[in-house]
Amino acid sequence: NMSKFKAIILNQDGEKFTREVKEIDKSFLKHGNVVVKIDYSSLNYKDGMILKNGGKLVKEYPHIPGIDFAGTVEESESPNFKNGDKVILTGWRVGEIYFGGYAQYAKVQDNFLVKLPKDLDTKKAMILGTAGLTALMCVLIIQARETILKGEPIKDVLVTGATGGVGSVAVLALSKLGYIVSAVTGKKDKSEFLKSIGAKNIIDRSELDQEARPLDKALYDGVVDTVGGKILAKALSHTRPNGMVAACGLASSYKLDTTVMPFIIRGIKLWGVDSVTAPIIRRQFLWSQATTYVDFEKLSKGVSIWGLQDIISSSSKILKGDISGRVLVDVNK
Ligand code: NDP
Repeated sequence: NMSKFKAIILNQDGEKFTREVKEIDKSFLKHGNVVVKIDYSSLNYKDGMILKNGGKLVKEYPHIPGIDFAGTVEESESPNFKNGDKVILTGWRVGEIYFGGYAQYAKVQDNFLVKLPKDLDTKKAMILGTAGLTALMCVLIIQARETILKGEPIKDVLVTGATGGVGSVAVLALSKLGYIVSAVTGKKDKSEFLKSIGAKNIIDRSELDQEARPLDKALYDGVVDTVGGKILAKALSHTRPNGMVAACGLASSYKLDTTVMPFIIRGIKLWGVDSVTAPIIRRQFLWSQATTYVDFEKLSKGVSIWGLQDIISSSSKILKGDISGRVLVDVNK
């Protein structure tokens, strides 16, 4: 049972920042009312920032990082969860101000948890993880032109940071909807991977990483942007009238230097995405739709499985954009 378990512990002592896998005691867990035995976590961009130096997100040390997890309820003081329930956690600043998922156990607030839908398992849930959930939020925004907005059909779409976690799930889901996906990547050797998950056209990042004109050739009905900066400004200038642009990331830059022209001349919608505080009802909906939007067989080919020790040695790769596809973290490896 869980009197002792393994976790990544971050610590900061003056200038010295440390990360190590430690055996810790159950009594160390302090937040929340539901104890979850974790099967899997995952590696997201934000995890890379937190593992590096706390990323200005962690307020107290010692700390357990890991912004998402899936597992089984083992102790519950909540009327909404009972022992044996399979659950998913993403966001809510778990892994930042609360202890996170890079551990064999976590204790969290019941209102952070989503019950695992019947057609998923904990592994599939974390193959998607925070990045995948965010990608689905972006995809639904593009699709919204056809669904809730009763607008013109979507045909051509652009995904930036396409080999990344959010990007690769977006490519997969958009292509499954029948859209023609153009994938922007900085990785010249990943064209085959991108095509295997549904990209039709591959665009070299350097082509878009340039100063944008206010309006340029109209090419895309929808954009999923995970990188921000010049690339997002350029994507806006290439969006067709009434296009949908979902912005969720800053892998290139948090800045956005654009003009009002795409918005007032072409009626383009720039729709910001935040998965951290998304309401539970939306999360339940998105997780219940996961197998409709995602072909797990295709996605699995781009998944690497790491243990906690691998996170310590290699998580910095995600900040350099050196990872393609998703990293699943087996906390019991
Ligand atoms: P990844 O590192 O897996 O993906 C980012 C990808 O962006 C990289 O793989 C790379 O793809 C590309 N990239 C990296 N550096 C640069 C650069 N300097 N310029 C242009 N492109 C670059 O991260 P995630 O998928 O986990 O996250 C992507 C972004 O989305 C992050 O900024 C993250 O913080 C954000 N995010 C936001 C969420 C929200 O709720 N708003 C939730 C989840 C993530 P390639 O080599 O193919 O170009």
